[in-house]
This record gives sequence, structure tokens and C-alpha cells, in this order.
Amino acid sequence: MGHIHIMEDSLSNKIAAGEVVERPTSVVKELVENAVDAGSTSIEIILEEAGLTSIQVIDNGHGMDTEDALVSFMRHATSKIDNEHDLFRIKTLGFRGEALASIASVSKVKLMTSNGETGVEVYLEGGKVIEEKPAPLRKGTDIKVSQLFFNTPARLKYMKTIQTEIGHTIDLINRLALCYPNISFTLRHHDHELLHTNGRGDLQQVLAAIYGIANAKKMIPFNGESADYKIYGYTTIPEVTRASKNYMSIFVNGRWVKHYTIQKAIIESYHTFLPIGRAPISVIHIEGDPHLTDVNVHPAKQQIRLSKEGELMKLIETTLHQAIRVKMQAPEVEQKK
Ligand code: ADP
Ligand code: MG
Repeated sequence: MGHIHIMEDSLSNKIAAGEVVERPTSVVKELVENAVDAGSTSIEIILEEAGLTSIQVIDNGHGMDTEDALVSFMRHATSKIDNEHDLFRIKTLGFRGEALASIASVSKVKLMTSNGETGVEVYLEGGKVIEEKPAPLRKGTDIKVSQLFFNTPARLKYMKTIQTEIGHTIDLINRLALCYPNISFTLRHHDHELLHTNGRGDLQQVLAAIYGIANAKKMIPFNGESADYKIYGYTTIPEVTRASKNYMSIFVNGRWVKHYTIQKAIIESYHTFLPIGRAPISVIHIEGDPHLTDVNVHPAKQQIRLSKEGELMKLIETTLHQAIRVKMQAPEVEQKK
């Protein structure tokens, strides 16, 4: 008799949750990304105790029918990719089909969703469906995750202060709002509204909501195009700088990414205009064929491998430098090789 057996789903989901659901912010990220993928134009996020007590995300996207609502909590259940081929042209934020299963396995979930034709309300505890009943036909999804890590006390112990956790979540929602100016985001913590964007598609208005009107007015718009990439965004005049590179937001095909080389290219585009050790506030949107941008590198999907990186860096440096130079009315300096 062998010793090896296949784990039960409830156990393997809990283990996977260790990767996907590190902290309340990770839950917010997965839920909001699902709302974006559902084509929502309005997303409201309501937190209690920085999300440790509850995280509620209400969207007006396409919703789910009753059958999908139940299947969505199963591991590897996704409507977003079908085959290996899809893996190399991912257009949605999610694709692993792991988030809801992982989140549900370490919390208590109440899901209300409707596609306009059927409406369903589902309660789960530790990943198990406790109750299911019909719900009103308001198209969209309202999901509430309560008592996160209630059944994994070791994980709960590692949570930092409310202030640290809420800081991470504000940062996340700021980036998503900058990434999607067409979506109205509202973030509430208890009775405080921490962010509201109007969803009218104006990137500068989103910048104003996050960094203040005065800073938003001191930003230079730019846009440029090369054979394979298109870029656009805003970056501050050299007088408005920060000591940290955290105020630079990079979006590749609608996905917030961290990319050291792109940060460096933005800073270098200022040449000598920027004081040493300082960084601008910038938002850069990069668009290119999904074939050129491999996001399937890490479960958090925040790292990305770019093909034709040299071409993109050159495009960033020349486009931003030109925009900054015109703003500063400075003479042209020879481009570095
Ligand atoms: P993934 O996003 O990787 O597909 P998830 O576990 O996050 O995996 O979600 C599973 C599935 O549930 C999604 O593929 C989608 O079909 C459905 N879903 C989740 N959240 C929503 C939502 N807010 N609106 C509509 N459908 C949703
Ligand atoms: Mg998802």
C-alpha cells in the first residue's frame, strides 16, 4: 500500500491561498481585478479594519449566472482562458482561476451576482457553500469577504498595523484608478472616503484626485509611438520631485507593473533637469501586442518580460525628453547613445 495520496480540494486551496492571499490588499487586488475584467464602469470598495474585518467590492459589470456563481469558487475555474494559445495573448487581468477559491478557503464570503437574467446569493465559509438563494436582478456583482484568515491564525498573527495595511490598499487603488481613468473608483474605510474618481476618462483628473490639483497642473503630457509600442501619460516638471520612485506608475496593456529599467528610462529622460537622487511623479501607459509582453512570470502578475525592450526604452527617453525640453524651453541636447 503506497503512502502518497491526492489532497482534498479544501486543503490544496488553503495552501494556494498562502501564495495568492498574502494580506488584505491581495484580496482587494483580486476582487477589483475581477470587477475590471467584468467590464465595470463603477467599482466601490468598502473596508473595515483595513480589510481584516471585511472587504466588500461592488461592481456594475456583466455579473454571473447562478451556475457560474457556484463554479467560480472552484480551483482553476476561469472564463478567461481556454487553451495554451490564450496564455500568450492575455488581455484580462486574471487568468489563473485561483483567486476566488483561495480567498474563500480562508474567509467567509457572501456573493451576490446577477447577469440581468438570473440573480443569486451564495454564502461560503472556509470555501464550503453554506447557503444559496435567489437574489435581485441588479446587473453586477457585490462580494463581501469577512473575517479573513479566521481559520489560519498563524497568518493573521503576521498582519501589520491597520495603518500599514490600509496604506498598501490606498496605493493599490490609486494605481488602478490611474490605470483605468474610464472606471469610477470609490474607496471607503469605515466612514471615510479615501478616494473617488469620476470615471470620465481624463487621466489628469485622476492625477488631481490622487496627488492634488496643484501637482496635477504641474505635469507635462506626452505621447509617442514606435514600430511596436505606443506610450502616453504625464510626468511632473523638474521642480516637482520626490525622494522615492514610488510615485512613478507604469502600466503595460492595462496592467500595473514594476519595471526597474522603465523607471530608469523615465528618470534619464530628464537628463540634467532632475536633481540627483530625486524622481518625478509620472504615469506612463504602454501599449503593445500582448505577444511582446509576457505576464505569466509570477502569481502576483506584477512582473513582466518585455520583448524589444531596447526599442521601448529609446521611445520613452526620446518622447519624454522632448516633452520636458519643450516645457522648459531648453535647447536640444544630444541624445545619449
Ligand atoms: P480568474 O480571474 O483568474 O479567472 P477568479 O478566481 O478570480 O479567477 O475568478 C473566477 C471566475 O469568476 C472568473 O473567471 C469570472 O468568470 C468569474 N468572476 C469573478 N468575479 C467576477 C465579477 N466581479 N464579475 C463577473 N464575473 C466574475
Ligand atoms: Mg481573478
